[in-house]
Amino acid sequence: MSTPTASQVFHRDLTHPAPAVSHASGVHVWDVEGNRYLDASSGGNIVISVGYGVQEIIDAMTEQARRVSFCGQFTSEPQEQLARELADFAPDGMDYVRFTSGGSEANETAIKLARHYFVESGKPSKHKIVGRWRSYHGNTLGALSATGHVMRRVGYAPMLLPFAHAAPPYRYRCTFCARSDACTLSCADDVERVILNEGPEHVAAFIAEPVVGAAAMGMLPPEGYFERVREICDRYDVLLIVDEVLSGMGRTGRNFAIEHFGVVPDLITCGKGISSGYSPLGAVIARNEIYDAVARGSGMFEHGFTYGGNPLSCAVGLAVLRHIQKHDLVSRAGEVGAYLLAEVESAIGDHPLVGEISGLGMLTGIEIVADRATKEPFPYERGVSKRIARACQERGVLINPSFSGNADGYRGDRFGICPPYIFEREHVDRTVAALAAAVDEVA
Ligand code: PLP
Repeated sequence: MSTPTASQVFHRDLTHPAPAVSHASGVHVWDVEGNRYLDASSGGNIVISVGYGVQEIIDAMTEQARRVSFCGQFTSEPQEQLARELADFAPDGMDYVRFTSGGSEANETAIKLARHYFVESGKPSKHKIVGRWRSYHGNTLGALSATGHVMRRVGYAPMLLPFAHAAPPYRYRCTFCARSDACTLSCADDVERVILNEGPEHVAAFIAEPVVGAAAMGMLPPEGYFERVREICDRYDVLLIVDEVLSGMGRTGRNFAIEHFGVVPDLITCGKGISSGYSPLGAVIARNEIYDAVARGSGMFEHGFTYGGNPLSCAVGLAVLRHIQKHDLVSRAGEVGAYLLAEVESAIGDHPLVGEISGLGMLTGIEIVADRATKEPFPYERGVSKRIARACQERGVLINPSFSGNADGYRGDRFGICPPYIFEREHVDRTVAALAAAVDEVA
């Protein structure tokens, strides 16, 4: 007989039951007790892009559900149209899209497509994927193998694929530049070191988040990082996959975050904000050469998931993308996001426990340290960022707690403030006031 519990859902955290949500509208969420929260976390998982309860998206969903929700034998107009409009939204030369149900599936798809591309190109030995430490690409075992988030990997180690990892571009704790005055871009060169170690003839792709999410919220690469990485990938005929599941679809103030860094990748993976949480959806956008190699070769990419490209989710994705463009929400995410970063800096930038504040657009990360001079983190067990998030929640504001871990076991407290793109300055002010009070209280 099973142990009776209040909930029979096998939740992730059995020790801290989450409150149940009742409903949501705009940038606010209500729990079943009637408490209202300002959502500066985009649904906790950084999913909500256009806000809750947008009527035209609900109408598009309802209309599509009436027509047809699923038909695996056929393509559908919403799928075809979303692919066209997403290709227009993506960098030039990336015109082909494969849909999935979320981010992990998108990264699995990108990994397999990279490998398949080299099979079609007559280089079948190129099969390995290189990732980075302090990254997160998903919880399925392939995506987790590319992930460099130690806490999320550690319990599954024997089942993970033997993917190698390069150093992260973690300026705040850079081990390379600690010994030099200026950034040497050694973290980018580390990608080359790993490719050479693995043997370029075995490496199919390098995968990275342009702005890091769960594994080091808001971590930005140093100037020139992605240009150097692009050169390295080209030198060794390695595809560059950018994981924009969290940073894409306008969140950083550009359509895709990689556009801030002036390079065009070979594959972009999307999720989260692509459907703003109205329905599960993810996508892989491929450079034309990759599509052409498959079209000229076997004509088959033997891979897929049952719900990938279903008409209902694609109708949602189309309505969300059109809503983002119609209301110029990408620019708004950039502008209000810059205000958010500046306000967080002015409120807590000098706080003795604040180590680093960094981010772009509606993706801001804050690292809390026990000692600002030595950058010594609090012991993991203190759960400082979770406690700060709880203290914000008690003040009616939701933020994104996220614990991080790296290769040598370091566990820092880094959390995010990642609101929906429709946040206004007044919402930022309320968020920052709650945050400043929460940091003081927990410190
Ligand atoms: N990639 C990144 C950068 C993410 O932040 C996440 C989720 O947090 C994923 C992939 C996995 O996406 P999903 O949880 O939709 O499978």
